[in-house]
Amino acid sequence: MLTIGVLGLQGAVREHIRSIEACGSKGVVIKRPEQLKDIDGLILPGGESTTMSRLIDTYHFMEPLREFAAQGKPMFGTCAGLIILAKEIAGTDNAHLGLLNVVVERNSFGRQVDSFEADLTIKGLAEPFTGVFIRAPHILEAGENVEVLSEHNGRIVAAKQGNFLGCSFHPELTDDHRVTELFVQMVEKHKREAAV
Ligand code: GLN
Repeated sequence: MLTIGVLGLQGAVREHIRSIEACGSKGVVIKRPEQLKDIDGLILPGGESTTMSRLIDTYHFMEPLREFAAQGKPMFGTCAGLIILAKEIAGTDNAHLGLLNVVVERNSFGRQVDSFEADLTIKGLAEPFTGVFIRAPHILEAGENVEVLSEHNGRIVAAKQGNFLGCSFHPELTDDHRVTELFVQMVEKHKREAAV
């Protein structure tokens, strides 16, 4: 059985655990860096990226998270988690983990429409997926080796690069677990290949 962690410092943690378990894997809330060695993949949840980043520093997660990624273990950033994962954040010089080769813009769907739902066509899914967007970022630019998985109104809202997956919306907030399942499949594939 696969064990998938959710960084549990802040944000929509429980909902991801529920979604991981609905996909038949074991979900673990990660509160200490030592726990990273026990998991096969990690989700960085939505929340508030500046707060999450501060807590990543406070609890000494920055280097352990980079090492986790360097081992090739899959990571999935959703909403604020996408911002944490991104190589560049528009309008600032500071990235957080800087792993996924994209430029993101925060809160980029405008103040009037803070939150909305949209039916998305996502590569790898046969039917549309309802994305829940909450003060969501979008991907302004996808760099080399980044595969765009979904766009909404011409804006990139999901992308993949190797073992990194990122999306602007909250895939854990509905009962449709197909996007979580895409990540579970990445984790499964990596674990299988690493065991050879
Ligand atoms: N607006 C938040 C940020 O910039 C992200 C919102 C979310 O994760 N739902 O960090």
